[in-house]
Amino acid sequence: MAANQTPAQAFEVHDASVLKWARDVLDRCSSPRVMQTEVIQAVERNAVWRGEECLNLLAPEAPTSPTVRRLLASEVGTRAAEGHIGPTERWFAGTKYIDEIEALCVELLKEVFQCKYADHRLVASMLGNMTVYAALTKPGDPVMTIAQPFGGHSSNRIDGPAGIRGLHIHDVPMDPVELEVDLEAFAQAARQVQPRLVALGASMTLFPFPIREMADIVSEWGGKIFFDGAHQLGLIAGGQFQNPLKEGACVLTGSAGKTFSGPQSGIIVWDDPELTKPITDAVFPALAATHQVNRVAALAAAAAEFLAFGKEYMAQIVSNAQALGKALSERGITVLGAHKGFTRTHQIILDVRAFGGGLEVAQELAKANIITNKNLIPCDKSTDWDHPSGLRIGTTEVTRLGMKEAEMESIAELIVTVLEKREPLEVTRKRVVEMRSAYQKIHYCFDGQ
Ligand SMILES: *Cc1c(COP(=O)(O)O)cnc(C)c1O
Repeated sequence: MAANQTPAQAFEVHDASVLKWARDVLDRCSSPRVMQTEVIQAVERNAVWRGEECLNLLAPEAPTSPTVRRLLASEVGTRAAEGHIGPTERWFAGTKYIDEIEALCVELLKEVFQCKYADHRLVASMLGNMTVYAALTKPGDPVMTIAQPFGGHSSNRIDGPAGIRGLHIHDVPMDPVELEVDLEAFAQAARQVQPRLVALGASMTLFPFPIREMADIVSEWGGKIFFDGAHQLGLIAGGQFQNPLKEGACVLTGSAGKTFSGPQSGIIVWDDPELTKPITDAVFPALAATHQVNRVAALAAAAAEFLAFGKEYMAQIVSNAQALGKALSERGITVLGAHKGFTRTHQIILDVRAFGGGLEVAQELAKANIITNKNLIPCDKSTDWDHPSGLRIGTTEVTRLGMKEAEMESIAELIVTVLEKREPLEVTRKRVVEMRSAYQKIHYCFDGQ
């Protein structure tokens, strides 16, 4: 071992000072019961701060309705139901009502996504992507996916499920100005690589993808398009974003807890009956066993909310994102895609190099109760992930709290105040708490109606 290397037993991925804080707290506790109280109090602190006092502009988050939250704590969450729906398809007896809950969920998802098949058992969208790679590729296959500086997610890269599957990963060529696929460069690269699968959809997505054109190209050698709609899932269901299955993608995965605004978990939908066996074989018994039936119930309830409110809710999210992009741009902030209306999704992306970079800005904003995240943008390298140039903002939560275009002006003003250090952070924080205090109710749901 080289002299400057840390010994193996000292290696720790978590922040050592936070773990030490926890150890000290527990050491001071007089009993396990007091330890439990410490846990509950930490949850309470977050509920008050993030739940009531912050402007949460994190693009992957959404507040769930009271009904969805209640179902997450339901009795059925203590039950085990390994296997497929129906008495002979399970390991365990006694699943009569669980079968009903799960079947309702599957049928609701099929209705919401206007598709032939849906699976409800993925506890994360990461596992949905693993399902796709397990079902549709073999180790060593070439695939094309989007690099991180263009919004690609690790699940489709070497460090995630695609890498675990042992795939050869090539980049989908992207245009750094238009923030869209460079179709000509793609046609050329794809014909050389002949990928089995091309993964579209990204954690940073502002504009639609040329799915149909790309599907036509890869069909020359029997390749397929897979759309990772983790972020856009709700926008797709609400008719505010292109519908990948209708445009030539063979499978769509997504996070139920991002724009879809259900319980954090994964969804996978498809139309082709030939894919049903490979996909469901990967879901069970490979990637799901005890799949949290409380979460399935909450997902079904969220899908029903979507049927009633999805269209209106998702349209407002996109309008709010466009309004926020415009308001920030008018105040001199560099917003990506400004020349094409900023965004067609729930996200806007800022270039904050002038203000110290994404890490610095996100940390400062958080001190003023404005929650965002640092983000790689096309001028960065994948390895810049810890100190990237960009900032990602999403409008899902503020929209569900009832904010409209006028409130986006106020939010832009608060953000610029922090970026330009116009006043002490403590003063901005007070103004954020005051603004947020008027928006405490969850909209676009049946609760309180
Ligand atoms: C968030 C995200 C995922 C992972 O989703 P989880 O539900 O958090 O597991 C996968 N792909 C993309 C593009 C994402 O943004």
